[in-house]
Amino acid sequence: MKFIIILSVLLLSCSQKINAQPIVKVWANEDSTAVVNMVLKYLDHLDVHEHIYIHISFSKLMPKKLEGFTIKQTALLSFQGDKKGKVFRVKIDAQLNPLRQKYVLAHEMIHIKQYVKGELQLLSAKKVLWKRKLYRQSDFNRRNNPWEQEAYRLDRTVVEILKGQPEVVPLTALQDFQ
Ligand SMILES: [Zn+2]
Repeated sequence: MKFIIILSVLLLSCSQKINAQPIVKVWANEDSTAVVNMVLKYLDHLDVHEHIYIHISFSKLMPKKLEGFTIKQTALLSFQGDKKGKVFRVKIDAQLNPLRQKYVLAHEMIHIKQYVKGELQLLSAKKVLWKRKLYRQSDFNRRNNPWEQEAYRLDRTVVEILKGQPEVVPLTALQDFQ
Protein backbone atom coordinates (compact mmCIF):
# COMPACT_ATOMS: atom_id res chain seq x y z
CA MET A 1 0.00 0.00 0.00
CA LYS A 2 2.79 2.33 0.97
CA PHE A 3 4.49 1.58 -2.37
CA ILE A 4 1.38 2.54 -4.33
CA ILE A 5 1.14 5.87 -2.53
CA ILE A 6 4.77 6.69 -3.22
CA LEU A 7 4.34 5.71 -6.85
CA SER A 8 1.28 7.89 -7.30
CA VAL A 9 3.09 10.84 -5.70
CA LEU A 10 5.95 10.32 -8.11
CA LEU A 11 3.61 10.19 -11.09
CA LEU A 12 1.90 13.34 -9.91
CA SER A 13 5.16 15.25 -9.65
CA CYS A 14 6.23 14.00 -13.09
CA SER A 15 3.03 15.09 -14.76
CA GLN A 16 3.21 18.48 -13.07
CA LYS A 17 6.71 18.93 -14.36
CA ILE A 18 5.62 18.17 -17.92
CA ASN A 19 2.63 20.47 -17.71
CA ALA A 20 4.56 23.49 -16.50
CA GLN A 21 5.78 25.52 -19.43
CA PRO A 22 7.51 28.85 -19.87
CA ILE A 23 5.35 31.65 -21.25
CA VAL A 24 6.97 33.18 -24.31
CA LYS A 25 6.04 36.42 -25.98
CA VAL A 26 7.63 37.63 -29.21
CA TRP A 27 7.77 41.17 -30.54
CA ALA A 28 8.72 42.59 -33.91
CA ASN A 29 8.84 39.37 -35.89
CA GLU A 30 6.42 38.57 -38.75
CA ASP A 31 6.09 34.99 -37.63
CA SER A 32 5.96 35.22 -33.86
CA THR A 33 4.03 31.93 -33.51
CA ALA A 34 6.83 30.03 -35.27
CA VAL A 35 9.42 31.71 -33.03
CA VAL A 36 7.41 30.84 -29.88
CA ASN A 37 7.06 27.20 -30.96
CA MET A 38 10.74 26.96 -31.84
CA VAL A 39 11.84 28.49 -28.55
CA LEU A 40 9.55 26.13 -26.61
CA LYS A 41 11.14 23.21 -28.46
CA TYR A 42 14.64 24.36 -27.48
CA LEU A 43 13.56 24.90 -23.86
CA ASP A 44 11.90 21.47 -23.73
CA HIS A 45 15.11 19.89 -25.03
CA LEU A 46 17.12 21.81 -22.40
CA ASP A 47 14.70 20.55 -19.70
CA VAL A 48 13.47 24.05 -18.88
CA HIS A 49 9.90 23.46 -17.71
CA GLU A 50 9.82 26.12 -15.03
CA HIS A 51 7.17 28.78 -14.75
CA ILE A 52 9.05 31.69 -16.30
CA TYR A 53 8.26 34.52 -18.68
CA ILE A 54 10.42 35.14 -21.72
CA HIS A 55 10.03 38.34 -23.69
CA ILE A 56 11.80 38.16 -27.06
CA SER A 57 12.19 41.15 -29.31
CA PHE A 58 13.90 41.51 -32.66
CA SER A 59 15.74 44.74 -33.26
CA LYS A 60 17.91 46.36 -35.90
CA LEU A 61 19.60 48.43 -33.21
CA MET A 62 21.88 46.16 -31.24
CA PRO A 63 24.43 47.44 -28.73
CA LYS A 64 28.11 46.62 -29.24
CA LYS A 65 27.40 44.69 -32.46
CA LEU A 66 25.89 41.86 -30.41
CA GLU A 67 23.82 39.25 -32.26
CA GLY A 68 21.70 38.62 -29.18
CA PHE A 69 21.62 39.00 -25.43
CA THR A 70 19.49 38.08 -22.42
CA ILE A 71 18.71 40.11 -19.35
CA LYS A 72 17.16 38.62 -16.24
CA GLN A 73 14.73 41.03 -14.65
CA THR A 74 15.24 41.39 -10.91
CA ALA A 75 11.54 41.56 -10.02
CA LEU A 76 9.31 38.52 -10.40
CA LEU A 77 6.08 38.78 -12.36
CA SER A 78 2.69 37.23 -11.78
CA PHE A 79 0.44 37.34 -14.75
CA GLN A 80 -3.33 36.86 -14.96
CA GLY A 81 -3.58 35.05 -11.66
CA ASP A 82 -0.55 32.87 -12.38
CA LYS A 83 1.97 32.34 -9.63
CA LYS A 84 5.07 34.52 -9.71
CA GLY A 85 7.79 33.68 -12.18
CA LYS A 86 11.19 34.96 -13.24
CA VAL A 87 11.24 37.26 -16.26
CA PHE A 88 13.85 37.17 -19.01
CA ARG A 89 14.21 39.75 -21.77
CA VAL A 90 15.93 38.54 -24.91
CA LYS A 91 16.97 40.76 -27.79
CA ILE A 92 17.93 39.32 -31.18
CA ASP A 93 19.44 41.12 -34.14
CA ALA A 94 16.63 41.37 -36.72
CA GLN A 95 19.12 41.54 -39.57
CA LEU A 96 20.57 38.07 -39.08
CA ASN A 97 19.66 35.42 -41.63
CA PRO A 98 17.00 32.90 -40.47
CA LEU A 99 19.47 30.11 -39.66
CA ARG A 100 21.76 32.43 -37.70
CA GLN A 101 18.70 33.72 -35.81
CA LYS A 102 17.91 30.13 -34.79
CA TYR A 103 21.44 29.60 -33.50
CA VAL A 104 21.32 32.86 -31.53
CA LEU A 105 17.88 32.03 -30.12
CA ALA A 106 19.12 28.60 -29.02
CA HIS A 107 22.23 30.26 -27.56
CA GLU A 108 20.12 32.64 -25.46
CA MET A 109 17.85 29.77 -24.32
CA ILE A 110 20.97 27.99 -23.06
CA HIS A 111 21.76 31.09 -20.96
CA ILE A 112 18.17 31.04 -19.65
CA LYS A 113 18.63 27.36 -18.74
CA GLN A 114 21.82 28.35 -16.87
CA TYR A 115 19.95 31.02 -14.89
CA VAL A 116 16.87 28.90 -14.20
CA LYS A 117 18.86 25.88 -13.02
CA GLY A 118 20.96 28.12 -10.75
CA GLU A 119 24.21 27.33 -12.61
CA LEU A 120 24.68 31.01 -13.40
CA GLN A 121 23.91 33.58 -10.72
CA LEU A 122 24.41 37.32 -10.99
CA LEU A 123 25.57 38.56 -7.60
CA SER A 124 26.06 42.15 -8.73
CA ALA A 125 27.02 44.06 -11.85
CA LYS A 126 30.59 42.99 -11.18
CA LYS A 127 30.30 39.49 -9.78
CA VAL A 128 28.92 36.24 -11.16
CA LEU A 129 28.73 32.76 -9.68
CA TRP A 130 29.09 29.91 -12.16
CA LYS A 131 28.53 26.51 -10.59
CA ARG A 132 29.42 28.07 -7.23
CA LYS A 133 32.69 29.54 -8.44
CA LEU A 134 33.14 33.31 -8.35
CA TYR A 135 33.96 35.24 -11.53
CA ARG A 136 34.64 38.95 -11.71
CA GLN A 137 33.72 41.56 -14.31
CA SER A 138 36.98 41.13 -16.19
CA ASP A 139 35.85 37.59 -17.12
CA PHE A 140 32.31 38.51 -18.21
CA ASN A 141 32.74 39.55 -21.80
CA ARG A 142 35.28 37.02 -22.79
CA ARG A 143 33.91 34.36 -25.06
CA ASN A 144 35.89 31.77 -23.17
CA ASN A 145 34.16 32.14 -19.82
CA PRO A 146 32.50 28.82 -18.87
CA TRP A 147 28.86 29.91 -19.41
CA GLU A 148 29.66 31.27 -22.87
CA GLN A 149 31.72 28.20 -23.67
CA GLU A 150 28.75 26.00 -22.86
CA ALA A 151 26.36 28.17 -24.90
CA TYR A 152 28.69 28.25 -27.94
CA ARG A 153 29.31 24.52 -27.66
CA LEU A 154 25.60 23.64 -27.58
CA ASP A 155 23.74 26.25 -29.65
CA ARG A 156 24.24 24.75 -33.11
CA THR A 157 23.84 21.22 -31.79
CA VAL A 158 20.47 22.06 -30.24
CA VAL A 159 19.22 23.53 -33.54
CA GLU A 160 20.55 20.63 -35.63
CA ILE A 161 19.23 17.89 -33.32
CA LEU A 162 15.76 19.40 -33.25
CA LYS A 163 15.56 20.12 -36.96
CA GLY A 164 12.48 18.36 -38.32
CA GLN A 165 11.25 17.39 -34.86
CA PRO A 166 7.66 18.36 -34.10
CA GLU A 167 7.25 21.73 -32.49
CA VAL A 168 6.07 22.12 -28.91
CA VAL A 169 2.73 23.85 -28.98
CA PRO A 170 2.06 26.38 -26.21
CA LEU A 171 -0.37 25.02 -23.60
CA THR A 172 -2.24 28.28 -23.39
CA ALA A 173 -2.97 30.79 -26.09
CA LEU A 174 -0.21 33.28 -26.75
CA GLN A 175 -0.32 35.39 -23.64
CA ASP A 176 0.32 39.06 -23.35
CA PHE A 177 2.60 40.39 -20.71
CA GLN A 178 4.69 43.51 -20.71
ZN1 LIG B 1 26.26 34.06 -24.79
